Amino acid sequence: MSQQSEFIWLNGKMIPYEQATTHVLSHAIHYGSSVFEGIRAYDTPNGPAIFRLTDHMKRMYDSAKIYRMEIPYPLEELIQACKDTVAQNGFKDAYLRPFAYLGHVGLGLNPKSHIADVSVAAMQWGAYLGEDSLANGVDVCISSWNRLAPNTMPTAAKAGGNYLSSQLISGEAKRNGYVEGIALDTSGMLSEGAGENLFVIKNGVLFTPPTTACILPGLTRDTIMTLAKEFGYEVREEAIAREALYLADEFFMTGTAAEIVPVRSVDRIPVGTGARGPITERLQKAYFDLVKGLTDDPHGWLEYVNV
Ligand code: PMP
Repeated sequence: MSQQSEFIWLNGKMIPYEQATTHVLSHAIHYGSSVFEGIRAYDTPNGPAIFRLTDHMKRMYDSAKIYRMEIPYPLEELIQACKDTVAQNGFKDAYLRPFAYLGHVGLGLNPKSHIADVSVAAMQWGAYLGEDSLANGVDVCISSWNRLAPNTMPTAAKAGGNYLSSQLISGEAKRNGYVEGIALDTSGMLSEGAGENLFVIKNGVLFTPPTTACILPGLTRDTIMTLAKEFGYEVREEAIAREALYLADEFFMTGTAAEIVPVRSVDRIPVGTGARGPITERLQKAYFDLVKGLTDDPHGWLEYVNV
């Protein structure tokens, strides 16, 4: 569960948590016109480090660009705001939520101004899909909801409105006793989880749905593809049919919040042995060692809070 923090950065100022509010007529509340990021900071031997902070913040500016939303701060300032928010709250590890939204810009669908309000919050948040999910794996189902079609809403944008789709997918799954729901795209091929990308392993090869499967191209997905290739595994981005999940040797999901989560069953059909597989375990360990600063960081992905 998440825990409240003391301070939130809002429009250039660090203010008490309780004061970081917005008006009920904010555009974003009515129309989903916000973009955001989910980022984790981990406790490392050299103090807290925010994993791939710059890449996450660049994605937030990209999301804003798609919607013609203007973030009125340079990238460097928001990167610093993220570090300051972790530091001021005294967190060693944290989940960060930078957020840019259309606030008091009128209720017309086309806003009077495209300049966003911007906030950065940090909180402590354990394993997103449950404490034992990382070791034991989770049970998932295929959702009756499809992911957004490419000519409806752009899934490459991490925009507030997209998460109505995610809520339908995960809510349905949870009500039916599953931990997470997996969506197919509108052509019937695998897309992504409500908040996670997918990796299927068969005969030692890793398969992941391509960006054309209407996914958010996750940074954890990119990290895992990089680590897997460095280990010498073949990684293929290609269209995957639903039944490939039932016949997979291993299947896992990736996301900043979820981290690397093995899937032990899909639609109550066991995946492989029904327990975390060896390649999943190897990549999971490599990921956690990397984000916690226990191994080399050749890509410079750890961005330290106190430098
Ligand atoms: N897909 C969706 C819909 C998500 O919300 C997320 C979480 N941000 C992901 C994939 C994984 O992205 P990342 O690894 O960058 O957190």
